[in-house]
Amino acid sequence: MFNGYTTDDKLNEECGVLGIYDSKDRDISSMLCYGLLALQHRGQESAGIAVNDDGIIQYHKDMGLVTEVFNDEIIKRLAGNIGIGHVRYSTTGESHVYNAQPLVVKYRNGSIALAHNGNLVNANTIREMLEEDGVVFQTSTDSEVIANLMARYHKADIENAIKKVMELLKGAYALTIMTDNKLIGARDPHGLRPLCIGKTEDGYALSSESCAFDTIGAKLIRDVDPGEIVVIDDNGITSIQNDKWCKKQLCIFELIYFSRPDSIVDDINIYEARRKAGRILAKEHPVEADIVISVPDSGTAAAIGYAEASGIPYSEGLIKNKYIGRTFIQPNQELREQGVRLKLNVLESNVRGKKVILVDDSIVRGTTSRRLVDMLKNAGAEEVHVRVSSPPVKYSCYFGIDTPNREKLIGANYSVDEIRDQIHADSLGYISMEGLIKSTGRNISDMNTGFCAACFNGDYPMEVPKG
Ligand code: AMP
Repeated sequence: MFNGYTTDDKLNEECGVLGIYDSKDRDISSMLCYGLLALQHRGQESAGIAVNDDGIIQYHKDMGLVTEVFNDEIIKRLAGNIGIGHVRYSTTGESHVYNAQPLVVKYRNGSIALAHNGNLVNANTIREMLEEDGVVFQTSTDSEVIANLMARYHKADIENAIKKVMELLKGAYALTIMTDNKLIGARDPHGLRPLCIGKTEDGYALSSESCAFDTIGAKLIRDVDPGEIVVIDDNGITSIQNDKWCKKQLCIFELIYFSRPDSIVDDINIYEARRKAGRILAKEHPVEADIVISVPDSGTAAAIGYAEASGIPYSEGLIKNKYIGRTFIQPNQELREQGVRLKLNVLESNVRGKKVILVDDSIVRGTTSRRLVDMLKNAGAEEVHVRVSSPPVKYSCYFGIDTPNREKLIGANYSVDEIRDQIHADSLGYISMEGLIKSTGRNISDMNTGFCAACFNGDYPMEVPKG
């Protein structure tokens, strides 16, 4: 039962989480801040850090980018040797500081701080159950639901409480949790959202993506397994494995779009996978042209791969304004369209009179592609052939990727030929599902490819709200 939860109020949280434990009692707040900067692409709406100094948890969180939320003075005040951090982006309507994380809660057995990436599909059901028992909620985040459950189950040790909570939660979650003396990481039984473990000089770190480890001088050890809980304290690192109900199904959109190209997620080198997808795309959808250009930055690795495999030179055709946020953040279509123009401009001298192959990682609503094709043609491109390094997005995501409802997904409502016409392209080619899986070094005929690809095939790893 999904009480009151419809696709219309689908709240997706795209976030990044981080955790650092230093066994030599050194302050880790500036390290946390640097690590969050490396995860900024995962969320630009709010940022926060909570640190633990001898059992006292202090925190700071606010709306804005990491550089806007933190300064030297704040970092100095947040002294401590254990800490967690969070960057958040959510769909419109829920953009408020009270939803910023980490969430810090005090209860009878102490205090915990919690940072969550992902989306639960049964949060409302649990929330109502807790509210019936008198719990008052202060935010509309899934994280508060998780924190309340944890407080309720925390009797003897926190590990058992987390295990019990994980049996109740349905959906996607990568969690970093801090208690008075521990840093804990937990990943949902499908491993939908990424979470990995790094070794620092005198301790450990947990992060949504390994690129944060490179920034803070940590070394990637491994990914947290689906359903696993890792506990880091003075005894080092302990793993509580759960092999009862786990099946690895990492969100494939992490590979396609969301993760940074310099990250390694579940043993997949993101840049190489995207480049290989581009090579496969060139074989699947060849076309005669003068240059291959990308939609920066999301399509760049695939465009380079396409150029390599086709022998058509890669060139820059669009210049990105690095200071403009995501076009997705705009609440209505008109503003969203303008957003594309603010963000990208055509390098006219490179495209005039040319047959251009434009490579992007995905088409969601179709707004970006149409605007870009028009801009390229207005700048004198003779032909524009769009190539996409993921299959058509046909289904909404309920696990943390901000895809709109189905009626707004162009791939759910039109054929490839119709989409080609709607985006004004001379031709359009999407990579096949088989090709996409192959780009990751896996095989579509494997019993479990290791991915959730529900946005393409509707095969959700669990029951999702109807709509
Ligand atoms: P659209 O205009 O809706 O077709 O958006 C497609 C563009 O948005 C592509 O350039 C993608 O790289 C990018 N994109 C895809 N998914 C997301 C997302 N969840 N958040 C922000 N941008 C996205």
